[in-house]
Amino acid sequence: MSDQIVVKGPDGAGVSLPAGATVFDGLRSLGLVRGQVVVARVDGRLRDLGSTASDGATLEPVSAGSEEGRAVLRHSTAHVMAQAVTDLFPDAKPAVGPPIEDGFYYDFDVREPFTPDDLERIEARMREIVSEDQPFRRRELDRDEALGLFADQPYKREILQGSAGTELDPSAPDGGPVSVYDNVRPDGSVWPDLCRGPHLPTTRWVPAFALQRVAGAYWRGDERRPMLQRIYGTAWESRKALAAHLERLEQARLRDHRRLGRELDLVSFPEELGAGLAVWHPRGAVVRMQMEDYARSAHLARGYEPVYTPHLGKAGLWETSGHLDFYAESMYPPMEVDVQGSGEHARGHYYYPKPMNCPFHVLVYRSRTRSYRDLPLRLFELGTVYRHERSGVIHGLLRARGFTQDDSHIFCTADQVVDECGRIIEFTLDVYRDFGFGDGAARVALSTRPDKAATVGTDAGWAHAEDALRRALDASGLDYVVDEGEGAFYGPKIDFQITDSIGRAWQLTTVQVDFNTPERFALAYAGPDGAEHRPYMIHRALYGSLDRFFAILVEHYDGAFPAWLAPVQAVVVPVADRHHGYGARVVAALAGRGLRAVLDDSDDTMGAKIRRHQLQRVPYQLVVGDREEVEGTVAVRPRRGDRRAGVASDDFAAQLADEVARRRAG
Ligand SMILES: [Zn+2]
Ligand SMILES: [Zn+2]
Repeated sequence: MSDQIVVKGPDGAGVSLPAGATVFDGLRSLGLVRGQVVVARVDGRLRDLGSTASDGATLEPVSAGSEEGRAVLRHSTAHVMAQAVTDLFPDAKPAVGPPIEDGFYYDFDVREPFTPDDLERIEARMREIVSEDQPFRRRELDRDEALGLFADQPYKREILQGSAGTELDPSAPDGGPVSVYDNVRPDGSVWPDLCRGPHLPTTRWVPAFALQRVAGAYWRGDERRPMLQRIYGTAWESRKALAAHLERLEQARLRDHRRLGRELDLVSFPEELGAGLAVWHPRGAVVRMQMEDYARSAHLARGYEPVYTPHLGKAGLWETSGHLDFYAESMYPPMEVDVQGSGEHARGHYYYPKPMNCPFHVLVYRSRTRSYRDLPLRLFELGTVYRHERSGVIHGLLRARGFTQDDSHIFCTADQVVDECGRIIEFTLDVYRDFGFGDGAARVALSTRPDKAATVGTDAGWAHAEDALRRALDASGLDYVVDEGEGAFYGPKIDFQITDSIGRAWQLTTVQVDFNTPERFALAYAGPDGAEHRPYMIHRALYGSLDRFFAILVEHYDGAFPAWLAPVQAVVVPVADRHHGYGARVVAALAGRGLRAVLDDSDDTMGAKIRRHQLQRVPYQLVVGDREEVEGTVAVRPRRGDRRAGVASDDFAAQLADEVARRRAG
């Protein structure tokens, strides 16, 4: 064996090193250590910087600020946290601690839930561990040795025993050695954790972290298993990046739609109603009606045809559609009705609340024979669906158990797919512009066919549909990425993301081609050749869920809706009681133009009234006193911008009507 090896950089340039050199040595010799390199990609896989470089390997540095680097940093911080927890709470049994978006968590089985004081103590202990510069040392054990090492750790043992082939499996491939990472204390003793890695070289490489909160979480998400305590934290490549993240979180907290829903009297989530279900208050309902009216008229203007379908459907329908095969977990259980017979012979019909509108629209399509002249057929519905989301993931209107989709199903010929997708893309961008998300989507992704064996549809069908989606995207001029193999088993799709006013990305619109449903329902149309053909079916929702889009709008605008959406567009504030009569006439004139105006005839002082309406984010306050009454004017206090005195009441009404008609984004 040679005592020299060669490693290469991503550009193919090689450098010779003594055998036994580390990956970090290799990167340094290649001149690739710039900035905070925390881990390396070795022949495509992430490895510790301290691992031994192999001959011929291609090395690529991964910096702390990259997504992969942050994940390693966060997961390493999770180890530090678990060590701190077991130092302070020797009875705590650690379970798992993965990195997540923007942070990490670790689950522990403890007798008492952690308190805020506990979190402070854990954080303090973590700082000590970080300053002790403890190496993360990797070693490999066979499974039995590892079971011995974790003899008093039931969760680690369960992972070792039952995880082969799952994402928890700490070894690869199945049955091979298991990797353990030891945090090596200054006295040489170790705190071991079962882990695939990779990790930072030492604990000192954690530049900035914070613990955030504790929540209960069932072991493996299973309600029949023990309830663990999950500590959430975040870690970043610098103090500055951490501070910026915490500031973003604070911004998000202040504009959380559940908080603003209460403060602005828009929606609430009464416990008596059930988790994941909301009631819309009048002010929220007015905003929602604008969104519905917009959706209805925009769809009709683009050649969609409205349909209405019920909230329930018989079991057989969901069998045909396949939902009972691949979607049953998310469906509410059925209700049995029309029971006939008695005792053990009693049998009824089972009805399920609908989790999707698709099969109902298919029934409309199938209600008569179709010819190519009927196509494209674009059916549209504001369809309310019910999905039994796990209680742990419910999040206000963003993740609810009942919600309404701006749902459409387009049935068309193969030749029409490109054109239909082009129209949908155009429609989507119009919606984003009208609702104040600028001139485009933040991210557009085309997801193509996954592993062929796991899909339905023909090779030709997939090729045709993918090509059609691609051509429609190319023609739109949008930048898009291709997520290879990320399509559904039943067809390729396009996903659109938007970015809100505080920089958060939201997945919104999906355009999904479906080879499965037309097949299952044996949909057909008569072609110009007289023969029967299978139509293409496209599912698409632009808002996605209307409820969720509403929540995004609340947070995007911080509750300060543009005038066209605002629950109240103008409040008339009389200076004194004697101005109520004139104020009421101003309100009537605005209402006569279809504008939403109210008179504040409460007994509060002027100052209190103005402050209240400011907090309620009313776009315009119109102050009326003696002078205004004589002149027929109003003093305009806009939510933003300059005040204007002596504006003729009619002129203001005309300006506001124009602003509403143009849907100016405030
Ligand atoms: Zn780990
Ligand atoms: Zn659908």
